[in-house]
Amino acid sequence: MNKKLILEKVYDPKPVEEKWSKFWIDEGLFVPQIPSPKKNFSMVLPPPNVTGSLHIGHALCFTLPDIIVRWRRMQGYNTLWLPGTDHASIAVHNVIEQSLAEKGLTREKIGREEFLKVALDWKEKYGGHIVHQLTRLGTSLDWTRERFTLDEGFSKAVRHVFVELYQEGLIYRDYYLVNRCPHCGTVLSDIEIEHKERKAKLYYIKYPLLDSEESITVATTRPETMLGDTAVAVHPADERYSKVQKKKVLLPLVNREIPVITDERVEREFGTGAVKVTPAHDPVDFELGKRHHLEQVIVIDGSGRMTEAAGEEFKGLDRFECREGVLSRLKEMGLLEKVEDYEHAVGHCYRCQTIIEPHLSWQWFVRVKPLAEEAIRVVEEGEIQFIPSNWAKTYFEWMYNIHDWCISRQLWWGHRIPAWYCQECDNVMVAEESPKKCEKCQSSNLTQDEDVLDTWFSSALWPFVTMGWPEDTEDLRTFYPTDLMSTGFDIIFFWVARMIMMGLKFAGDIPFRHVFINGLVRDFRRRKMSKSEGNIIDPLEMIEKYGTDALRFTLAALAIPGMDLSLSEERMTGYQAFANKIWNAARFVLMNLKGEEFRLKEEELTLADRWIRSRMVGIIEELNDALENYKFYEAANKIYHFVWHEFCDWYIELVKPSLKEGNKTSEAVLVDTLDQILRLLHPFMPFITEEIWHHLPSSGKSLAVAPWPKVRKEWKDESLEADMKFTQEAIVEIRTLRAENRIPPKEKTDLRIKVSSNVKVKGKVEILTNPQNKIYIQTLANVQRIETFKGGFPKRKNLLKGIVSDVEIALPLEKGLINFNQERKRLERELSKIGSDIERIEKRLQNSNFLNRAPKEVIQETKRRLGELRNKKTKLEESLKHILSLI
Ligand SMILES: [Zn+2]
Ligand SMILES: [Zn+2]
Repeated sequence: MNKKLILEKVYDPKPVEEKWSKFWIDEGLFVPQIPSPKKNFSMVLPPPNVTGSLHIGHALCFTLPDIIVRWRRMQGYNTLWLPGTDHASIAVHNVIEQSLAEKGLTREKIGREEFLKVALDWKEKYGGHIVHQLTRLGTSLDWTRERFTLDEGFSKAVRHVFVELYQEGLIYRDYYLVNRCPHCGTVLSDIEIEHKERKAKLYYIKYPLLDSEESITVATTRPETMLGDTAVAVHPADERYSKVQKKKVLLPLVNREIPVITDERVEREFGTGAVKVTPAHDPVDFELGKRHHLEQVIVIDGSGRMTEAAGEEFKGLDRFECREGVLSRLKEMGLLEKVEDYEHAVGHCYRCQTIIEPHLSWQWFVRVKPLAEEAIRVVEEGEIQFIPSNWAKTYFEWMYNIHDWCISRQLWWGHRIPAWYCQECDNVMVAEESPKKCEKCQSSNLTQDEDVLDTWFSSALWPFVTMGWPEDTEDLRTFYPTDLMSTGFDIIFFWVARMIMMGLKFAGDIPFRHVFINGLVRDFRRRKMSKSEGNIIDPLEMIEKYGTDALRFTLAALAIPGMDLSLSEERMTGYQAFANKIWNAARFVLMNLKGEEFRLKEEELTLADRWIRSRMVGIIEELNDALENYKFYEAANKIYHFVWHEFCDWYIELVKPSLKEGNKTSEAVLVDTLDQILRLLHPFMPFITEEIWHHLPSSGKSLAVAPWPKVRKEWKDESLEADMKFTQEAIVEIRTLRAENRIPPKEKTDLRIKVSSNVKVKGKVEILTNPQNKIYIQTLANVQRIETFKGGFPKRKNLLKGIVSDVEIALPLEKGLINFNQERKRLERELSKIGSDIERIEKRLQNSNFLNRAPKEVIQETKRRLGELRNKKTKLEESLKHILSLI
């Protein structure tokens, strides 16, 4: 026998995974051909951050599309799955600045040039370490096309886009109140802010009226900003304040005279109905200040410290220290009227959770509305489909209410804004290459904008710049638009929407046809995974423990569209067992091959052979349908059931008699079925399937590029499937009768079948007694003789009776086959134990303490267990009654 046909006794994933992931890449199996006569299928990888390391969310987000791309590749598509990483400005800054701080340095101290050198070194050394982890997942990416959002081509493309948008008036610079994170040291866009309810205080502060003994009380959550107040506002129709309209107050601590103005947008119900107005530190006040032409006094700087304008006493203090200082001074002066508890939403930085500071400054913005119109249309008209479709609603809601996008960041690692300022005449120039002279005054004293672009600005261009845009490349012509984008719901706005807008605008087409939104991976109790809960599942650890295939299969089997996944190690153990089951089945098949030559003669096909081929047609169709609709869970569960419960449990057993007889046709069907199964499983479990496949006599270069099984309609035989199902039911019933009555496995019994005049029953009896099925029943159910009886069984006491859909069967018990008395005693013992178990659980479920305190799942589980025990008790009682009748 050829040595190739032998598999190791136990499947060891690690060496197998290492071998094949290297082989696939070395052989260039994931590199598409250009040009190719085949149809194309393409995807781009959502680029992970260079700072990132693989977490379970990635594992899901990369495994599911890999299943699709592997399936398409095997279907004969010319496939491209393009990888790369994102430069992730803020994340890299956090890493580098932290390590600088450990040496007592800051980025300002070392300067821009040195900082960028450090960052680049770091990226070369440690960044992109996630790339290696991706290969461990078995992702079939074309690494020859790997890109980085800060590579040269990207930088060129980004400048090109910026300049074009600027020239069309879609990018502009404005002095505007934006969100700034004092910790990260940069402004952020609106969607980078997380609003969280916080317990706070509402302070009531008296502002004395000028030339009067009276005062107006305003309520605020941020007393420190009063130092920058430039008005007090009331509603024009608020009678409480009709007398003070147009008067002035003296702003305490600062002693600035500020007007009392009226504005219809003042909420009369808030606080006292009179509000302080701080245009430089509050978005509502900013708008109000613009309407009334109020002065903007900046009292807090970008790092959250008080400025000169806050006054001698407070300047240099942190904003929260200053709050305490202001309050104690107001108390001294008797101007703090009262303090109330107050709960409200406060904006936090999505990166570091620091409270955001509204910050008035010059920034660059994208005017998004004109771009959004087309992006809305393509989704409305179904050119782009969200899966599940309800995510389109979320997309529309945001797109209809879209705000201008602040794209400048006060960071260094990133695409520097291609804008230059003339130091002589203040002229602003935007260009792809740095200008030598001012176009207005010819001065060469120019400085480039210090800021970089929001990281999402470049990732919005990912699908087409990775393919070589703005050059007109073969890749673009062949693979753009891509077919599928798979990502999480949390970046629909950050990323998906912006890719659609930019793709339409610059690449002239949608970036992808389908957007698959995957769920969140939660723990087995459906809780979010987090460090503080200690319930994080590390995919690399899972790969070490259970193998990549088990992890991948688990993720697929849990991925129900529109639902979060509830992941447990138990499931992974289960699918690891599945991998072992496949391995053992393959070992059995290989050990039973008599040679390498297979000849299949139609007339030699057994019922079992024709049955498994017919079932195969069904499973291929079901799998295609499920994958076509991204129903990963359905695909995984169907193939799992087919392999385990039809191929392993039945076919391998059914084929044994004909293998024994040396039926070469059955041998051929067996090995062919295994081959087809490996192909169907390959997208889910690429490693074990590739390994086994290479031991098959028929294998080729790689399963990764082997053809996907075809639907052979001519193999489908519904009535044969029904007959086989019935035979299996009979076998199960006989096995159950034997097991319930403790017939030792070594002992064979006879089978009696009652023949009736009913046509339906007659037909079924014929199925059980035809020569081929007879052998299956005899072999699989341990039966000696099969006899039929017209009109009824001859009366005998010791007869075990059963029914298989309308057909009555019986097993005659020979003397000595069962020791009835011993069996009776055993049943009585078991019944008494189960009785006390039931009693205990019933008591527990009546205990109100337990019902009130135990978690819902525990109570449910207890009830389920009670039901199970009661069922078991009924069964045991029946068996006992039966035994007693036989004695
Ligand atoms: Zn931050
Ligand atoms: Zn100039």
